[in-house]
Amino acid sequence: MKKIAIYGKGGIGKSTTTANLSAAFSEMGLKVCQVGCDPKNDSTRLLLGHICRKTVLDVVRDNDAITSEDIVHTGYNQISCIEAGGPEPGVGCAGRGIIVALEKVRELNVLSDMDAVLYDVLGDVVCGGFAVPIREGYATDIYIISSGELMSLYAANNIAKGIKRFALRGVVRLGGIIGNSRNTLNEKKLLQEFAARLNTYLITFIPRDSIVNEAENKRQTVIQYAADSDQAKVYRKLANMVLHNAKMTVPTPMDFEELEALAEKYGSKN
Ligand code: ADP
Ligand code: MG
Repeated sequence: MKKIAIYGKGGIGKSTTTANLSAAFSEMGLKVCQVGCDPKNDSTRLLLGHICRKTVLDVVRDNDAITSEDIVHTGYNQISCIEAGGPEPGVGCAGRGIIVALEKVRELNVLSDMDAVLYDVLGDVVCGGFAVPIREGYATDIYIISSGELMSLYAANNIAKGIKRFALRGVVRLGGIIGNSRNTLNEKKLLQEFAARLNTYLITFIPRDSIVNEAENKRQTVIQYAADSDQAKVYRKLANMVLHNAKMTVPTPMDFEELEALAEKYGSKN
């Protein structure tokens, strides 16, 4: 079973990219499960066609004796969708929610017959809970999404620090940087060098395309909404790369000054 986690700054495109990856995997005939680990709870929206109505935490709060049917929802192309959920805003800790939710997923053994499991994790928060998918061995192949914007690189570098810590004592590896374009200056070159400095590579550079927003407004992945579009081809290519990726590494994160200098080198005209 492929156990993949996608990390990155909030709003960078994790859920969109993960849902398109799941859709592409399912088209290849794989049995796929996507697990949303963001208290925002919208990871699987494009697969379900609506916001998940019952997160694992909702179910746990309401009932002790729960079954896998309570937490697994079936989406596009029979993809299994799970949302960890989160506490009410202002009360409780989001990370704790992920811990409880993933424990339930493990307890109910819902992932045993999957070919690929994808964890979509909010990663720009310094909270132990967000490290659970990699700390507890749920995911082994980690990908970080970033654009050329400094703050997204900053978050990506921090995530690399976390991955390094767990990689040194286990099987967790960084599989690459997924570039998700914000059309910044020399963005692809910057991301290529950023990735190389982290001892990894830019596995795919996803263009910014309004078809993504069109599909989002229809509550669909691009794979479903515009199956023949160039953007859908990019997501399929990414799925292939992820499936056959042989370059799994232990990252070498940078210090902040180095990161700033890199962003300045590519991201300014004079
Ligand atoms: P995250 O899960 O990281 O918080 P989302 O996947 O929800 O981020 O994406 C944030 C917004 O960016 C969404 O409105 C999404 O449609 C848009 N978006 C993501 N990737 C692209 C892209 N390649 N081109 C255009 N819009 C994108
Ligand atoms: Mg998201």
